[in-house]
Amino acid sequence: ATILAIESSCDETAIAILRGDLMRTEILSSEISSQIEIHREHGGVVPELASRNHSLALRPLVDKALAEAKLSIHDIDAFAATAGPGLASSLLIGHTAAKAMAVATKKPFLSINHMEGHLLSPFIAGDRGVLPNISLVVSGGHTMILHTQEFGSYQLLGKSTDDAAGEAYDKVAKMLGLPYPGGPEIEKTAKTGNPDAYNFPRSMLKKGNLDFSFSGLKTAVLYTISELNPETGRALPEQLPDLCASFQQAVIDVLVKKTIQAAQASKLTRITMSGGVSCNGALRDAMLDACQRHSFQLDICSKHLSTDNAAMIAYVALQKFLRGEQSKLDADIDPNLPLNALVLRK
Ligand code: ATP
Ligand code: FE
Ligand code: MG
Repeated sequence: ATILAIESSCDETAIAILRGDLMRTEILSSEISSQIEIHREHGGVVPELASRNHSLALRPLVDKALAEAKLSIHDIDAFAATAGPGLASSLLIGHTAAKAMAVATKKPFLSINHMEGHLLSPFIAGDRGVLPNISLVVSGGHTMILHTQEFGSYQLLGKSTDDAAGEAYDKVAKMLGLPYPGGPEIEKTAKTGNPDAYNFPRSMLKKGNLDFSFSGLKTAVLYTISELNPETGRALPEQLPDLCASFQQAVIDVLVKKTIQAAQASKLTRITMSGGVSCNGALRDAMLDACQRHSFQLDICSKHLSTDNAAMIAYVALQKFLRGEQSKLDADIDPNLPLNALVLRK
């Protein structure tokens, strides 16, 4: 089957066309129109600007995706879009557009949970379907560890009780005067810093459960900036590398240790990592190293499938479509769509 999916939950408009069966999938096209430059001058995403730009970007992007896949809209078997979580006004644009295409072509519509997309992204373009694994999802709004048994069967083992890891990156970057989005900037700046320069807290590491907390780490960085610069309260350029490297190391230590703990407590041999923060090279290296030491197989997708994209939405939609599922045309968006919506499905 061939699926066209739209992702518009935040500040990227994305369209993908994916073809496949229960085992093997192939990305025929995956287009992204980023609004990062538009939002950067505001230091974060402005919802009104985001929805207007989704409206402008969508039509040409659909044409581009179809041309890239060498298909007409009538070759598509079902249309899918992200239902949430995300910004209501942004979600509504993509969700409504996908419904309209489904109605116009008399094909099914599928309403998809963005987090299930991130969760399963390591299996896109694979040839064995979704395999049992311990999944670390680290995105801008979520940090969680799940036991994924098969498609549609997920058990939440732990999650952040306050800030998500990506959110902590973005907030710390802002405190350091680095541009939005903060994750890639901190990674770049950390490269020349000493990760042991400051001993920032590794929150909840000793607690023995699999929940996360990153707000204490964020506050610790803030205090350190003030201690170093009592007059201005602002970090100097030469202080940035050590602060970034030490912050990043604290995040990585917690993410890696908890994921390995979860995997050891399960009988699974496979670990996956997904979401925007899994683009981070230092995190990838540390997770790969830990997995090798503890004999776990690690699957991470390529970086362009780790941040928001439509191929992951198309992948979930294809899995559902092949199992005979579809959504009603009055299916609504849900800006707070809970993870439970997918965790409790089976
Ligand atoms: P969610 O999926 O939870 O709703 P989101 O869609 O905003 O949130 P993603 O697009 O998956 O999240 O990821 C964006 C996040 O990833 C941002 O917080 C960004 O700072 C972070 N990020 C991106 N690249 C890197 C990197 N190289 N290092 C660390 N963090 C990164
Ligand atoms: Fe996301
Ligand atoms: Mg994003």
